[in-house]
Amino acid sequence: MINFPKYNILFFVLAIPLITVSFFISYWWIWIILFFILYTVGLTLSSINIRSNFYMKVICEGNPENNSISITFDDGPNIINTPKVLEILKKNNIKACFFCIGKNVEVNKELLKQIYSDGHIIGNHTYSHSYVFDLFSSGKMKTDIQATNNIIFETINKRPKLFRPPYGVTNPNLAKAIKKINMISIGWSLRSFDTTTKGNIGKVLKRLENVKAGDIVLFHDIIDEIPEILEKFIELVQVKNISFVSIDKMLNVDVYNE
Ligand SMILES: [Zn+2]
Repeated sequence: MINFPKYNILFFVLAIPLITVSFFISYWWIWIILFFILYTVGLTLSSINIRSNFYMKVICEGNPENNSISITFDDGPNIINTPKVLEILKKNNIKACFFCIGKNVEVNKELLKQIYSDGHIIGNHTYSHSYVFDLFSSGKMKTDIQATNNIIFETINKRPKLFRPPYGVTNPNLAKAIKKINMISIGWSLRSFDTTTKGNIGKVLKRLENVKAGDIVLFHDIIDEIPEILEKFIELVQVKNISFVSIDKMLNVDVYNE
């Protein structure tokens, strides 16, 4: 699989003859421009594809042979919908992972304690979840992510090791930041697109019908439709005879740094 350093070497090697030829052939510069556009497109596509493993390692699925899936919730905790999600999970004896946003934890500390005491795993999904997070410097990313780790530590006395990149975007700065804080990045293999339902739950469920053993499934516990989606999804998984497993057991990883 090609990664960022190999990609750069490949383009550098190809660029040398391409630029050399431009000294002898007029209008060759058009090819040079196209070449650099192609280079940039490759970088961008790799950046927005959480499963590319291009800039950094992101674990996106477990071993299908175990015939289980793991479910994850991003962007909470949310005072209205997270308790409903917890209720459904408890009823079905399912342990999930909640990738929390620091600024939401700050105003919902009791809820975070409840998620944790219910036996779920708490992961980090940045403090700000800024729209421009991917434009932050590596240092600023590190500060943002650590702020969430600190709030979570103050609340449940555990410092998360699992990190989920906002919007699933990765880049060299994030790779550097995550390495420095010694965290593990977790992606997904099945995305519900539950935040884009606009009331059309059927469309989300249709997508979720593709669930298969080994999947890490992405939901958001901030949307009003999540309780209904989750209940129907659990039925769907049970019909397929697939079991639910918490992400630490699925991946055999430590989920807290201390
Ligand atoms: Zn998010």
